[in-house]
Amino acid sequence: MKNKQIASKGIAIGKAFIYQDEGFDVPKNKTKDVKKEKEKLKDALKKSSDDIKKIKEKSEANLKQNADIFDAHLEMINDPELIKQTEAMIENETLAAETAYDKVADQYIEIFKNMDDPYFKERASDIKDIKNRVLAYLLGKTPKTNIKTAQEDTILIAKDLAPSDTATLDFDYVKGMITEMGGTTSHTAIMSRALNIPAIVGAKGLIEKIKSGDTIALDALNNNIIINPKQTELDKLKAQQKDWQTHLKTLNKYIDNPTKTKDDHQIPLFANIGNAEEAKNLKDVGAEGVGLFRTEFLFMQSAEAPDLKTQIKAYQTVFEAIQPVIIRTVDIGGDKDIPYLKLDKEENPFLGVRGIRLALQEKKLFKTQLKALLIAAKDQDDLRIMLPMVATINEIKKSKAILNEVKKALKKDKKAFQDNIKLGIMIEVPAAALNAFELAKHVDFFSIGTNDLIQYLFAADRTNENLSHLYEPYDPTLLSTISRIIQAGHQEDIPVGLCGEIASKLDLALILTGLGIDELSMSPTSILEIRKTLASLNITDLRTLAQAILKAKDAKDVKKLIKQFKDDNL
Ligand code: PEP
Ligand code: MG
Repeated sequence: MKNKQIASKGIAIGKAFIYQDEGFDVPKNKTKDVKKEKEKLKDALKKSSDDIKKIKEKSEANLKQNADIFDAHLEMINDPELIKQTEAMIENETLAAETAYDKVADQYIEIFKNMDDPYFKERASDIKDIKNRVLAYLLGKTPKTNIKTAQEDTILIAKDLAPSDTATLDFDYVKGMITEMGGTTSHTAIMSRALNIPAIVGAKGLIEKIKSGDTIALDALNNNIIINPKQTELDKLKAQQKDWQTHLKTLNKYIDNPTKTKDDHQIPLFANIGNAEEAKNLKDVGAEGVGLFRTEFLFMQSAEAPDLKTQIKAYQTVFEAIQPVIIRTVDIGGDKDIPYLKLDKEENPFLGVRGIRLALQEKKLFKTQLKALLIAAKDQDDLRIMLPMVATINEIKKSKAILNEVKKALKKDKKAFQDNIKLGIMIEVPAAALNAFELAKHVDFFSIGTNDLIQYLFAADRTNENLSHLYEPYDPTLLSTISRIIQAGHQEDIPVGLCGEIASKLDLALILTGLGIDELSMSPTSILEIRKTLASLNITDLRTLAQAILKAKDAKDVKKLIKQFKDDNL
């Protein structure tokens, strides 16, 4: 189970309930009565739609924010293309409705499974969920509507869980969830976070090792699963669980507060997102805006680039959910390939045609994205566009020229668009970091991308586990580089944010605040913890800490200093 991951933090103890997904063995039935089979299909789809509507109602009461998953399910059930293909198969191959539907739905599942974007990959389990329901009706069976309601504290364990399974659970008893499949963007993960139920996903091989009724200690704070724990282990976990619950209660108080230190220094905490849907729940976890919307995922989801309309809709979804939003133009290349662009194979993709370099080559794609952004933001107060992988002033100048061309064309066409644009750049290439004082004269904001900056600064591939000793965010070389970038921005009066993963780490967030960063953008689940901690500290002390850290000789020293600081101040 070495790839298991925490999907939702917490500790839960209960009896194992192993949920087996009963798929259907669909016989290859033929028909002589095509009309009847089509009627049967229509009827099964209607019954399934009615079920989902009911589940949605129940889910709305239970989960509040995640019921829109079931709107997507309803759309899938009634998808005209899926129905058309099934009907065609019934007609052309004289197949029974269940056989045809099974085949067509499987093709859809395969398509989703093979998508690169993990979010879409995991939608395959939604279609499987729908397929099982429709098939049950077609085969004259009753679809499973409920995982047996337990009467004692239960840890639900399954290979995979579909949304309608989790939505109908009785959460008075289900205290935790473990799945063998699924990443942290699977629905189990999304729902478990929304419900605040501890969950671990990707625990391959667990089901083999347990039987229903075993006691399971699910430690989703330390990514650990204990089967039939000893009393001493239970006592320890129960104590940790109690502390954790108290801790969560104290965090909730900070959801609606702006982030500031004890002595009133404000530092907004933004969220990083990879798709438009993620923006919808951000306010509930205390985000004060979006500091990085990685738009390339929108371009990785389909067999061709998203058209103008699709892009406008996605950007508007985000704008309507939260403000302000920093939208990064596509950062394709490196480890993010897009087959339809047919990019040349490169010896060193991370040093290749990536980010702004690619956008300036693929002008049509870049222009469509800019056009979509300008139109989508027409009713917003401002529009913040950020360019990735910038190394030179020339790249900024070229990007601005393209932006102006797009604006001119929109004006000519008398299209409404947002003219109040702030154009910023990511600082993630060492050349940009070194030349930050000059670059700052040409843009409206900086956002430091430490995920890349660290790899380029230390020449250590961010995906190579064997180089993790070099990929060291506490290294004073990195921290003084960041400090210099902040100074450069401030000299030109432009804000400097940071959106690399290090912003999510409490200790580093404190150091960065002391260094003068204007905004931190991070994984949404880290926001409240950092907000709470900052509220108990003074900016003057954090600045003193940061100055001491800049003089440290190595990462070990930096860690010692921050530990000492926390011991003294928290
Ligand atoms: C970064 O490099 O820090 C960053 C935020 O961008 P990405 O991780 O998408 O490369
Ligand atoms: Mg980057």
